[in-house]
Amino acid sequence: MKKIGIVGRTNVGKSTLFNRLIKQDKSIVSDLSGTTRDLVSGEIMIDNSIVQLIDFGGFDFGVFDEVDKNVQKKIKENIAGLDLILFIVDGRCLISKEDRAIAEIIRKSKKPAILVVNKVDGPKQEDVVYDFYSLGFSDLVAVSASNSKNIDELTKTIAARMKIKKAKVRLVAKKDLTKITIIGKQNVGKSSLFNALYGEEKNIVTDIAGTTRDSIDAEIILDGKKYIFVDTAGLRRKVKISKGIDKESSYRSIHSINSSDLILYVLDVGNYATSYDIKLLSYAWRKGKPIIIVVNKWDIKPRDMTENKYKNILLADNSLFKNFPFVFVSAVKKTGFDKLAAEIKRIEGKIKLDIKTSALNKELRSILLESAKMNQKFYYATQTNNAPVEILIFVNKKKFFDAKTLLFLEKQIRDRFDLLGIPVFIKMREKEPRT
Ligand code: GDP
Ligand code: GDP
Repeated sequence: MKKIGIVGRTNVGKSTLFNRLIKQDKSIVSDLSGTTRDLVSGEIMIDNSIVQLIDFGGFDFGVFDEVDKNVQKKIKENIAGLDLILFIVDGRCLISKEDRAIAEIIRKSKKPAILVVNKVDGPKQEDVVYDFYSLGFSDLVAVSASNSKNIDELTKTIAARMKIKKAKVRLVAKKDLTKITIIGKQNVGKSSLFNALYGEEKNIVTDIAGTTRDSIDAEIILDGKKYIFVDTAGLRRKVKISKGIDKESSYRSIHSINSSDLILYVLDVGNYATSYDIKLLSYAWRKGKPIIIVVNKWDIKPRDMTENKYKNILLADNSLFKNFPFVFVSAVKKTGFDKLAAEIKRIEGKIKLDIKTSALNKELRSILLESAKMNQKFYYATQTNNAPVEILIFVNKKKFFDAKTLLFLEKQIRDRFDLLGIPVFIKMREKEPRT
């Protein structure tokens, strides 16, 4: 059984958190320092796996400021047998010497650890949370153990850090497959592309649309990797009979964009982007969907057309296109599929990307060093979400960072972390400097 240990100085809320996770009162919660002297342990279920949770109680740091050798030894002994450490700090206090001492021991142990900032009961405390990143842990979860706030988030993070295999592998695995939808105007070759990809290897249609369903889902293997492709184009013919085609198909497109992980947006080499294309592309991008532009019918391209030329014409028309990778294919001749598969693979690897906090701050510092105006002060940044990537930046005054600066930052982050085709949302929060 895997072991998770709760570590932290006295009174930060270890027992409270332990009880919260264990959902029974095995440990005694008290205001007195050092009540839970001895180790308490119990079993919890994380993601269908049973793991042992241990609360080590407080470490008696004694009256001296120095963290003495015995305490250090005790902490080291305690964490030696653990698979994961929950390092708890008190979100209502500043970081203490003891916190720093424990942090260092944990870091040196090189064990997986999650920093849990406890007592974040309300929005007032939320602002100080980011100070705790200076302890050097990239996994940080703010909770309120006594109010049961964000405990779900914590268990999710625990599951992720322990890489616990899910019990229902088959089912979950299918749900976990990246869902790719082919979108584009009529006649650009969506059906042809779907069928060509579908015919590439032994692919299985897993979920044939009933009358109530809008699409056919197929498991398609590309370059050894399985994806779910959603064929909405197959319904085209049904739509065609009805009046108001445009309305109908854009409704369907929007509907399928919402449930996709990745969009292949198909254009016909004989045409450029229309306002309909821009409308759908902007919508998907704003929705946080990764996009690859697939230029189809390359086999019948005009003689003097080149990949760069086509791309540049689109770019000149609308700057939105600078965010997307381009792949040039022929659905009929089945060319360009290797590049398409490679691009899908690259993007898929980035969808759930977690940018290391340290790397993010390093890059942002260097970006802003080159470009920041006098009054712009940047304190700290952290990724707050993925799929889509969301980055929270703490600054002195939001008004100093205008839309242009935000676009610039977004572009820089996209370039530096190889995120072409991946939406990046930047949020700002104001933070007064400590006086
Ligand atoms: P331990 O010494 O680290 O095990 O800490 P305890 O679990 O005994 O908690 C110490 C004190 O902090 C108790 O008074 C708890 O009620 C309080 N406490 C624990 N969690 C929270 C919380 O999320 N918010 C607030 N406001 N107080 C908490
Ligand atoms: P959809 O409406 O986007 O699903 O487009 P279809 O797949 O039905 O294709 C529309 C027309 O374009 C058909 O006549 C296809 O044969 C043709 N087409 C599709 N892909 C290609 C291609 O790569 N090259 C050429 N030359 N024709 C294509």
